[in-house]
Amino acid sequence: MEKKEAGERILKLKKEIDFHRYQYHVLDKETLSEAALDSLKHELYTLEQKFPEFITADSPTQRVEGKPLAKFTKVKHETPMLSIEDVFTFSELEAWETRVSKFSGREIAPFFCMVKLDGLAVELVYENGVLKTASTRGDGVIGEDITQNIRTIESVPLVLTKPKGHFYNFEHIVVRGEIFFPLKAFEKLNKELKKAGQVEFANPRNAAAGSVRQLDSKITAGRPLDFSAWDLVSEHGEKTHDEEWQIIKELGFKTNPLGKVATNLKEVEQFFNEVKNKRDKLDYWIDGTVVRVNDNAVFKSLGVVGKTPRGLVAYKFPAEETTSVVEAVEWLVGRTGALTPVVTLKPTLIAGTTVKHASLHNADEIKRLDVRVGDTVVIYKAGEIIPKVKEVLKNLRPKNSKEIVPPETCPVCGAKVVRKVGEVAIVCSNRNCFAQDKERVLHSVRAFGIDGFGPQTIELLLDEKIIQGPADIFSMTVDDVIELERFADISANKLIKEIQSKKNISLPKFIVALGIRHVGEETASLLAEHFLTLEKIMKAKEEELSMVSGIGEVVGKSVADFFKDEHNQKIIEGYLERGVKIEKGKPKPRGKFFGKTFVLTGTLSSMGRNEAKEKIKSLGGNISSSVSKNTDYVVVGEEPGSKFTEAQKLEVKVLNETEFLGLLNK
Ligand SMILES: [Zn+2]
Repeated sequence: MEKKEAGERILKLKKEIDFHRYQYHVLDKETLSEAALDSLKHELYTLEQKFPEFITADSPTQRVEGKPLAKFTKVKHETPMLSIEDVFTFSELEAWETRVSKFSGREIAPFFCMVKLDGLAVELVYENGVLKTASTRGDGVIGEDITQNIRTIESVPLVLTKPKGHFYNFEHIVVRGEIFFPLKAFEKLNKELKKAGQVEFANPRNAAAGSVRQLDSKITAGRPLDFSAWDLVSEHGEKTHDEEWQIIKELGFKTNPLGKVATNLKEVEQFFNEVKNKRDKLDYWIDGTVVRVNDNAVFKSLGVVGKTPRGLVAYKFPAEETTSVVEAVEWLVGRTGALTPVVTLKPTLIAGTTVKHASLHNADEIKRLDVRVGDTVVIYKAGEIIPKVKEVLKNLRPKNSKEIVPPETCPVCGAKVVRKVGEVAIVCSNRNCFAQDKERVLHSVRAFGIDGFGPQTIELLLDEKIIQGPADIFSMTVDDVIELERFADISANKLIKEIQSKKNISLPKFIVALGIRHVGEETASLLAEHFLTLEKIMKAKEEELSMVSGIGEVVGKSVADFFKDEHNQKIIEGYLERGVKIEKGKPKPRGKFFGKTFVLTGTLSSMGRNEAKEKIKSLGGNISSSVSKNTDYVVVGEEPGSKFTEAQKLEVKVLNETEFLGLLNK
């Protein structure tokens, strides 16, 4: 990036970050996810490192979180409460060690590792062993006096125990730590707030902050906040950070059990991975680990750069959400001919892997989000391989951004692109479109479970006209393949053998292989269980299909339309002519709930709603969303809805949770 361009980008980033920070840290409102905000901050930091002439005192990288609110008394910290620089990968962590070692001219290991609690950092000052002041971080120099509220937190000692052995200066002790909201209690609080018609908290961190910054300490007292100490600021003869933790504990504070000394970065990485694996089982939120130079003399000598200490770094968990810049857009043609816009991004790290593309679903999504080439976007991982675009940060839009216009012709075959009435997708009108053929073959190969057959081979085979559709792969010979580039005797033999060995296929898998719109594995299984043979499914009328439990009108119509089409009938014939054998479907075993219809209402304490539905279905029962005379049981949990009254009116058998569990386990 050119200097001028970098300067402009830095200016925009600063403004954007500051806006969301103010919303989040001062007003306790989340306008952008923390992960996305971190990503912007990271970009700013990296740019500033490259062009240090642009670093100004008002940069978010030079500031620590949260301005004090006017309503609290202000407290000046004895030593500033600094912020921490973030790293997201092991190589960034290594770079930090190299940089800092070089700066100090010596080895900086060993390190003290701890979890990074996601709560509210506070400072506690004790005079002669008695709690005198508690304050928030504020802007790092001046915080808010929250002593009254902190007193209500049971895990904060009001009086300290004097440690045995070498310890001096008991008259004045300063400890820092984190106020946090235990997860279970957080969920309970939100439930209560909802019931009372009040605004719920976005996350446990906001709940902690919101509870501590109450002018009425009675409200704070009613919230089960917890406190964990992580730093001893005043000096008592300790030489390392782990000694500090020892002293903190002896004084009567709680420290997090996940804290230890690591002799090198490899051990830091081990600790990081251990913590990451435990993360979901903990009853509090953490967003990573903190790595600190353990030797206090070395730590001190490293000093501060801007507003962050050099000897400390936050090694954060991979973000599920991040920001990047849209560089181009591509339209991919799928097996049904639908064109999907995919954006090319400036490479960015998400959930631990580098991504260069994100999906936009369809042309309408482009309009809805107003995405343009050049835009900074928030992307997120949604379980799929390719992440999705969540929103556009319009304030960061450059002057030369370009609108994205859907193509009028197919980017692969050049045929006209059409938009079917009432549908969002735009589709290539050419049934023999190469891209569609390729995707269809690929889809079929996957459904048949054929290994070693990738998109490139399929492209070659289509190009050479060896195959024209999915069924043709079953008539391929070794001679056909051996002629192709990259194929030797052995691999050609292996591929043909593999294909021939997969000729027998179960009915549901064959249905999947056909690539019918809206029909995935689950629907295919339902069809196979109900009709048992392909002939019967092909003959079934639309109404008949829609009646099958679990299949609605949309899917029923799609299946009926597919089999009515002569072109598709020929494809099926093609498979059969080439020796594909479809095994007969197996009827669903009759469970003890066979023929019984259940309706669920309210919350069950022992399992989620989906789990309960699955259990009923697995025993052969049906689920209905409304109560009628045909309902056999209405399962009633906590806070049931109108279905409960409906059940009583119609005199349908009602089961409470205990009765339901009894029936399940009978
Ligand atoms: Zn096409």
